[in-house]
Amino acid sequence: MKILKFGGTSVGSVQSIQTLLNILEGEIKNKQKPVVVLSAMSGVTNLLVAMAEGAAEGKDFTAQLAELEKRHFDVIKSLLDIQNQNPAFTRLKILFNQLEDLLQGILTLRELTPKTRDMVLSFGERCSTFMIGKIAAQRFPGAISVEATEFIKTDSSFGQAKVNMELTDLLVRGFYQENSSKLIFVTGFISANDAGQITTLGRGGSDYTAAILGAALNAEEIQIWTDVNGMMTADPRMVTKAFSLPELTYTEAMELSYFGAKVIYPPTMIPAFMKKIPIVIKNTFDVDFEGTVIRHDCKPSNLPIKGISSINNISILNLEGSGMVGKSGFSGRLFSLLAREQINVILITQSSSEHSITFAVQPGDTERARHLIEQEFELELVAKKLEHVVIEQNLAIIAIVGENMKQTPGVSGKLFHALGRNGINVRAIAQGSSEYNISVIISANDLAKALNAVHDGFFTQLTKTLHAFCLGTGNIGQTLFKQLNAHSAYLQEHNGIQVKIAGISNTRKMVFNSDGVSLDNWQAELEASMHPADLAEFVAKMKSMNLPNCVFIDNTASPKPVEYYEEVFKANISVITCNKIGNSASYKQYKTFHDAAHSHGVDFFYETNVGAGLPIIRTLKDLMNSGDRVAKIEAILSGTISFIFNNFKGDANFHDVVKEAQDKGYTEPDPRDDLSGKDFMRKILILARDAGYAMEEADVKIESVLPKACLEAQSVEEFYAALKAEDAFFSNLKAKAAAENKVLRYIGKLDEGKAEITLQMVDESHPFYTLSGSDNIISFTTDRYRERPLVVKGPGAGAEVTAAGVFADLINVGA
Ligand code: ADP
Ligand code: ASP
Ligand code: MG
Repeated sequence: MKILKFGGTSVGSVQSIQTLLNILEGEIKNKQKPVVVLSAMSGVTNLLVAMAEGAAEGKDFTAQLAELEKRHFDVIKSLLDIQNQNPAFTRLKILFNQLEDLLQGILTLRELTPKTRDMVLSFGERCSTFMIGKIAAQRFPGAISVEATEFIKTDSSFGQAKVNMELTDLLVRGFYQENSSKLIFVTGFISANDAGQITTLGRGGSDYTAAILGAALNAEEIQIWTDVNGMMTADPRMVTKAFSLPELTYTEAMELSYFGAKVIYPPTMIPAFMKKIPIVIKNTFDVDFEGTVIRHDCKPSNLPIKGISSINNISILNLEGSGMVGKSGFSGRLFSLLAREQINVILITQSSSEHSITFAVQPGDTERARHLIEQEFELELVAKKLEHVVIEQNLAIIAIVGENMKQTPGVSGKLFHALGRNGINVRAIAQGSSEYNISVIISANDLAKALNAVHDGFFTQLTKTLHAFCLGTGNIGQTLFKQLNAHSAYLQEHNGIQVKIAGISNTRKMVFNSDGVSLDNWQAELEASMHPADLAEFVAKMKSMNLPNCVFIDNTASPKPVEYYEEVFKANISVITCNKIGNSASYKQYKTFHDAAHSHGVDFFYETNVGAGLPIIRTLKDLMNSGDRVAKIEAILSGTISFIFNNFKGDANFHDVVKEAQDKGYTEPDPRDDLSGKDFMRKILILARDAGYAMEEADVKIESVLPKACLEAQSVEEFYAALKAEDAFFSNLKAKAAAENKVLRYIGKLDEGKAEITLQMVDESHPFYTLSGSDNIISFTTDRYRERPLVVKGPGAGAEVTAAGVFADLINVGA
């Protein structure tokens, strides 16, 4: 025999009740006769709570009562044959009249006792079970409904009554034997004390009713039918990537539900565990899905944890003082006081010095707990052996759960890494001695971010989501979006990475979307946005969205965004930039950025600062990190100047070559910005700093390619005229080089801490001799690469390769 329990949503609408009947029909066809436990229709218990509490404050409840009636009557009209409707209406009407009288009493007295409250709440289950019993009886002759108050007997702790298991077992068996030919529908959640007064088993308690009946009747299985695909790795309403767990042990299910996985009520596991009855959690809205089995002998799983659950609103109380040290009776006194006063302690942690105790309670219990403690420990407080209780509010608990934790080292490391990287401050930690769970207390504001980040951290077989906030929609920004769009499927499949562009800003507008701006349509979305561009607001919004795995991407060449880098790092957000200004201004600023990124455990990637997408910065970093020492760097890092000198040969004259470079779009609007060596200088400076030298701009000696007159020309036109006038100077250089079988190269060099950029003539033996087009080249001479330097060479400019470099940085974030 099986117990089938249907939760609120499963009895909440005409359609779900029909599904419920179909499920039962399937059972009956298989020669089964289950006992069915029903909850109140979804939302009804909350409505009853609101009515009762409202009445106690003098509020009218007639509209809510009418709503309640209507929900039930509508079901009857849809599902009960016309000739059966009147008796059902009459019976329900009697129940609603009783409820009304009760609420009227509360309203008159302005008082709601736990006992009356339980009585009010009982109407939810009593109405739904009566109604569905009647509907079922049309299809299944012999269907009856019964109120569990007849056989589930408890003490008088209203609101969360304790079951007298021995008596209950006897009564349940007795009732079942008398009605063994019937299809029994039982109210969940409610019970009665010895005096016959209605009690309840705690919110969510219908699951427990099912387990109590299952244990008493030695059921072969307890099925919990709900609105999700079984027990999942996290609450699917908070973590979209949560997935269903095929199996769990009773302990795991208990821990997960204790820490907030509402899908099953924690005490449910106890009777089932005692009798080794499997609990199967199934989805009424996806009947064929296997669901989750909670049982004794689970197959070994290779997941480090089974799931993550959370309680979203708790307070903590901190007690500190020398009076606690070594006093074994202290915590005993404290916690028996709280137990006696029915204050539920959710979690306790104690420092190993015993100098302080922290414990978590429901927000509603906070003040009462403080008051009770200060009363109980008055003497200790006066004697200053105890400090006054400190309360912290707006907190949440997140717990990771799984029996494998015991054998797997590094589980807590993973948890704290995920939290730390996302800037989530941990207020307190508790690990159950069973090692089945680790719980941490964090700010309630961080809960969604924490759950998602921790879920990503543990279930690495799932795609990891990066939330990128991008500045700049010029050439590079646009190309990056195009590349991301074209490769998103591949990225997900092969790298397990999903990139969501959660924010975009150019100089005019900005747009935000935590689900990701569409990469097919970002221009239109940005255009249609009502947000005018504002950098400070962009950064503030990015912080307040509080998304996990967040990255700030600066695809501009402006000094403005750089002013925000430090603030961004401090918010535990990684920065990727192709903007050279950040790293090439003062050394102090360079150092500040690197230190801030480091101390907040986030990444600062800027591969495209030097040589566009070529792996130059990364190569240097790898050399340094692996303990090598850079003795010398030689490089050509200006694509423009490369192009010019590569083409300045034979009959060509310098003026024409520069003009050609400009016409091809290789130069800045004023070619002197390239030819002056300033941009090149910035790259050498960044390399020198990355190689460990605390250098400033003035420390890089630049030999200009251009004679004075060209540099001093007032306009670009005059500059070209000056170039023509200096033709002899350049031709001379060319002739001299040719005579010695050499070529002209503009080379940056860092040699034992000295940096310079000079125009040189190199012969065939030099590795830079054969450079062609606008390529970049860099050679690293290090302790390990001393005989033959390590060389990186290739195209070092252009939107495609630069965007590709930013893209590569992005997928390396957090790797
Ligand atoms: P019922 O009314 O059927 O008893 P509940 O609302 O009590 O249903 O429980 C089901 C809900 O539990 C789901 O809708 C889901 O949002 C929530 N939930 C929280 N944590 C989990 C989890 N780890 N797995 C599945 N559901 C969860
Ligand atoms: N109806 C009750 C509640 O909402 C019991 C249950 O659904 O399990 O708490
Ligand atoms: Mg429930």
